[in-house]
Formats: sequence, structure tokens, C-alpha cells
Amino acid sequence: MPIPVRRGLLPVVLLVLAGVAMPACAGPGTATATDPEMVDCAVVLNMPLIQQAAREWQAPAGGMTALVLVHEQEHCLRVPDDRETPAVAAEQRLAKKLRNPRLVAFVEATLTRLDASGYWKS
Ligand SMILES: [Zn+2]
Repeated sequence: MPIPVRRGLLPVVLLVLAGVAMPACAGPGTATATDPEMVDCAVVLNMPLIQQAAREWQAPAGGMTALVLVHEQEHCLRVPDDRETPAVAAEQRLAKKLRNPRLVAFVEATLTRLDASGYWKS
């Protein structure tokens, strides 16, 4: 069960359903936060997509999973701002902290997929 956390006191609590592949998911992860006062963040990870990205980028699967988690967490913290820019920036900060050049390269490539308004290019 996810534990609601008052915004600003603690990092968002994640309910991680690792290994669950959701056919409706367009990306490697999805996050849902519904209450504006409390962060109740459910993250679903599409592990086959994450593992595929890790192989393609020759990056560690654990690090790639962490990038997806921090990306989705940022979406929950930023509701109702649904732009991708802050979420990808969170990925970039984590990739740099992990000091993994393959993860940093992955995030830099991800940044090129955003348009000027901060959403995915269509
Ligand atoms: Zn996103």
C-alpha cells in the first residue's frame, strides 16, 4: 500500500510494481498522483522496456531503473505541471551523481526528444 506523504515534508512514497508490464504504457514507467495536498504516488515500471534501454545504451539495468523511478517521482511532485523538463532534469542530476557515462549519455539523448515547451516532441 502506498503511504500518503504531505507535500514538502518527505520525498514521495513510491509503490513500485516491478516486473509488471502494462500494455497501455507508452513508456518505461507511469506515475499517478491524484491529491493536491498529499503525494500518493503509484509508479508502474515496464521492466522489459527498461532492460531493453539498458542493453541498447550498454548501461546498468539498476541505474536505468533508478532513472525511471526518479523521473516518475518528479512527475508526482510537480502535479499539476505535466511537462517533461523537470522529470528529465531529475534524471540528469541522478545520472551525474551515479557518475555513469552511459546513463549520462542516455539522459542527454532524452533531452533532445523534448520540444521547446518541455513536452515530448510528437
Ligand atoms: Zn515523463
